[in-house]
Amino acid sequence: MVPMNLHLGAVVSPTAEQGFRWLERGALLVDGEGSIAAVGDAEPLIQAYPTANVIDHGSGLLLPGFVDAHVHFPQYLMAGSHGESLLTWLERYTFPAEIECADQAYAEALAGQFLDELARQGTTAAFIFGVSYQGAMEALVSELNRRQLAAVTGNVWMDRNGPAELLKTPADSAAISHHLIGLMGPDLRLGLLPRFVPSCSEEAMARCAEILAQHPEALLQSHLAETLAEQTWVAELHPEAADYTAGYESFGMLGSRSSFAHGVHLGDREWSALAASRSSLVHCPTANLFLGSGLFDLRRAREAGVSVGLGTDVGAGTSLCMLESLKACYQVQRLQGASISVEDLLSLATLGSAGVLGMADRIGSLEPGKRADFILLQPPEGSWLAQRWSRCDRLEEQVFAAIILGSAQDIAGTWIRGRRVSP
Ligand SMILES: [Zn+2]
Repeated sequence: MVPMNLHLGAVVSPTAEQGFRWLERGALLVDGEGSIAAVGDAEPLIQAYPTANVIDHGSGLLLPGFVDAHVHFPQYLMAGSHGESLLTWLERYTFPAEIECADQAYAEALAGQFLDELARQGTTAAFIFGVSYQGAMEALVSELNRRQLAAVTGNVWMDRNGPAELLKTPADSAAISHHLIGLMGPDLRLGLLPRFVPSCSEEAMARCAEILAQHPEALLQSHLAETLAEQTWVAELHPEAADYTAGYESFGMLGSRSSFAHGVHLGDREWSALAASRSSLVHCPTANLFLGSGLFDLRRAREAGVSVGLGTDVGAGTSLCMLESLKACYQVQRLQGASISVEDLLSLATLGSAGVLGMADRIGSLEPGKRADFILLQPPEGSWLAQRWSRCDRLEEQVFAAIILGSAQDIAGTWIRGRRVSP
């Protein structure tokens, strides 16, 4: 029998009952299958499991691994391309970067680099927007299987308004999506990914919705109401539609398995339609700030009853680090006169995003029965954050300071299914 590992440190995690756990001297018991067997105060667990292998992380904080609810793998190496608004930025930087993934050797190397970086940043699960090419997606799925990452991914659907090299007919996109389902291991779910309304003909939307209905394990993700110029374009393309959201709704694409990145510019009817259908939104604050798209209204989402996760949206996002996204999230709410608690912030980046992946039963919090996907937050000795922490009286202060001042260097370790994957 594989011995159990007992990780000691402060334990910080949301809980399924919408509560929050703050344990000054806590412990996380991980079984041989890579699941959490117990969480609690350190001493009682040390007594109860005398044969467990004790790993003492000292004053470090153990948190659930971050869940990035919206990130584009083919755009990993074009992030930080100089400022343009969304539509010109797509043409100038994004589409050429995605076309590079037609080169199989490039795509294979990129998949490895991208997933190594996620691990380094403490991200243990993600909803990954792919690219339209089958070969590149096979490479990504194969790497995800090997690393046992909990993830949703798929090929991007796009049959109009883009460079010919990226366009696929609805039949071709459907064939690739079906093919990918067959390659996915138990930790993966297929994402059906129409890029956004302007990229997909009615035939493509209808075919995509059909596959969503046929496969209860599949999820749908797209972009919605990111910028005003995009909204105007959608209205020109679909003068018959009530609004942008109707462009998905009319194909039966709203529902509890559907999520939409951004939702910065939504009307009253759209908020109601998203809430009534139990669709989720993914807030991507660093991308919204970078492209100057607008300020997401988190209070409005809460009032409307729409679930929200947090995404980096790299390449428009400016960091794969979820601490950076949390900082930007806090700042975006402050610019609208709102505040957000440390608990709310951490929940967004963990359990909230896990809900977007349809995996809140398996990931997103440190609780018995869940996957042992966790990180050790501990700034290097002598760093600014370490000095700041020396003046903190409470765990809550330490976590908030890490969100505002922290970076990847403060993620001292990342574990997936109980196995250390970084550094
Ligand atoms: Zn995006």
